[in-house]
Parts: sequence; structure tokens; C-alpha cells
Amino acid sequence: MTNRGPTPRLEIDLDKIFTNASIMVSRLKASNISVTGVTKAYLGAPEIARVVLQAGVQSLGDSRIENIERMREAGISERIMLIRSPMISQADRVVASADISVNTEMDVLSALSKAALAANKVHGVLIMVELGDLREGVLLKDVENLVQKTCKLPNIKIMGLGANLACRNGVSPDNGNMSDLSHVADRVAHICNTVPMLISGGNSANLDWVFNGGKIGRINNLRIGEAILLGRETLERTAIEGLHTDAIRLVAEVIERKTKPTRPWGTIAQSAFYNVPSSDGPNSDDPSAGDKQSINQTILALGRQDVDPDGLQSLEGFEILDASSDHLIIDTACTQLSVGSDVSFQLNYSALLRAMTSPFVTKMFIGSKTEGEHSLKGL
Ligand SMILES: *Cc1c(COP(=O)(O)O)cnc(C)c1O
Repeated sequence: MTNRGPTPRLEIDLDKIFTNASIMVSRLKASNISVTGVTKAYLGAPEIARVVLQAGVQSLGDSRIENIERMREAGISERIMLIRSPMISQADRVVASADISVNTEMDVLSALSKAALAANKVHGVLIMVELGDLREGVLLKDVENLVQKTCKLPNIKIMGLGANLACRNGVSPDNGNMSDLSHVADRVAHICNTVPMLISGGNSANLDWVFNGGKIGRINNLRIGEAILLGRETLERTAIEGLHTDAIRLVAEVIERKTKPTRPWGTIAQSAFYNVPSSDGPNSDDPSAGDKQSINQTILALGRQDVDPDGLQSLEGFEILDASSDHLIIDTACTQLSVGSDVSFQLNYSALLRAMTSPFVTKMFIGSKTEGEHSLKGL
């Protein structure tokens, strides 16, 4: 059996990611909206970040300072935004590596101001506004006040306002909440002498609103991660026309293939992950003795330490039965896979995040842009 690479591995097609990012950029440009390419799902991997920049995104965004530092160390000098409120304990690092951060707390802003003063730098900030999803953000009635105070901080420059919806409670971006953001932007415009103000209306969940004729108002930026990587909008996870939904695949290797009964036997208690035994209960006796229903049970060397198994879909149509820390059990129906062969999956966002983060999963870049990448690395 010849494998095409180490397993488990993520095969990341840089050409397809380039296409997805280019289409996003041009479609949003038609509404005068710039794209901040969000790099957190791939931990700021410079190989991918460079492709997204080549596709024309205006800046990059990440929620973790470590990822931003990784991109800076790789020589990426474009504008990068920290899209989670900075930790006060990391204020120095934020000022050193991020051009802009999103903010909601005066104490954090003061810490950034001190750090920027000490580093002799000007740090840009975006004030996040709460629009109903109840994650980060200043309540509408408090925005003006915070902006006023922020303007007085030395070495801090207010770049504009931002909002984030859908991530916690699934609140959808619509003309109502987006015009609330535009209106508060009108109200604070006279306070900050930043022209034009960056009004960052949200994430991939805003795409439906934009493409279905939403009233754009003052919104002129979106922070897009998942749609570029997985080719789907994120409210219903519908494929976006023209985008690749298979730019990233997960490949795992078969380590056991046996015909086994469908039901366990013996006294059944909790399993490693507290799975409730099926209501049918276990087999009453050893099925190997009798003539019980059996399947082509195949085990892959892949588990919860590598991926969120609930977010996997077999490209060959195999059913995923169960997963423990290091074993993924699938039913291959009539197909008999040999031990050592590969099985491929599409991933949802949750599965992608964990696979990208797992040290056991090799990240392999494919496509014509890979060569350019290697030569870039040599520089
Ligand atoms: C993760 C995140 C994004 C990107 O969201 P996608 O759904 O991947 O487009 C944008 N903004 C903030 C604040 C985020 O945390």
C-alpha cells in the first residue's frame, strides 16, 4: 500500500482556497465591503495566510496573539487585526505584533495605551458593539461614552466600530441590527477624526445578508474565515455558489478491518465518553457462537484527540459509527478496505479547528501554489 503522505493528514488545497478568497473579495467589493481574512482556524499558518493575501484581502485577522506572532515571524507585514479583546497581560505583545485590536473595556484600552507609549507606537482600536448575540460588545447606549474616553488615550487611534453576530446565540445579521451599527457610527463619527471609519459588520454569517440585497449603510468591512476555507455561509451552512467546499480534506489510515456483530456483548456500563448504550441493549450471549447480524467494521487511526468526529463526513459515503480518543469506527458496507489504505473526509468548522490544532495531524499543502510557497520559504 503506497500512501501519498503521513496519516492522519489534512490536505489543504491552496489553489481552491485562493479561488474561494478571490471570489469573496470581488463579490463583497461590489458592495464596497473590504475583507479581513480570518486566520484563526489554521493557527495563522503563513502558507495559507499568504495565499489569502494574494487573493486580495485587505488585511488579516486572528483571535490569538500567538498566531499573529507566527505570521510576523514568517515575514508577513500586511495589516493584522487581533479580533478578540486583548488580555491585559498580553498588552505588550499585542502592541508589538497587531496593528489593530478589537476592544470593549476601558481597562484594556488603558493598558494598550501604556504599552503603545512605551513602544513608541500608535495602536489602532476598533470598538465592538453589542447587537444582540450577547458575546462581546459595548451596549449601544454606552458606545459614545467609551469612544470619547478612548480618544483621550495617548498612542491609541480609533479606527472605527465592529460587531459580531451568530457565534453565540445564532442571532442573524439583518437590516435591523446592521442599521443600528451604522447609526451609532454616524453618532460617533464627529468624535474620532478618522476618515473613513472602518465599520466591520461581522463574519461569514453576514454573507447572506449582503448577497440578498441587505441595506449596507456604513458597513465597509467583514471578517471572513470559514466561508473562505469551507465554501459555505454559516447560518444554514449552505454552499456558496462558485466556491469550493472541498478545499480541505482529512485523510486517515485503516488499522483494522473485520466482520463483526453490530451489537456488543457482556455487562454494559459507561464507555470512555459516557455514551449511553443503545436501547436495544447488548447481545444476550456471545454472538460469535451464533448467527447474528454483522458488518464490515473498519477502524481508522483517528480519534477525538485529532478531530471532532461529529463534524466528519466520509467522501466515500461510509457511515461513522463511533469514536474514542484514538479510534474511529466506520461501517464500510459492501466495500472491504485493506489495512493500510486511506479514507478521506470532509470537515465542518468544529472538526477543522480540532484537526488544525492537533499535533498528531500533519498539515499537507497541495495545488500549484505550493511550489511558489516552497520557493518563498527559501528566501
Ligand atoms: C472567528 C471570528 C470571525 C470569523 O468568523 P467566520 O465564521 O470564520 O467567518 C470574525 N470575527 C470574530 C470576532 C471572530 O471571533
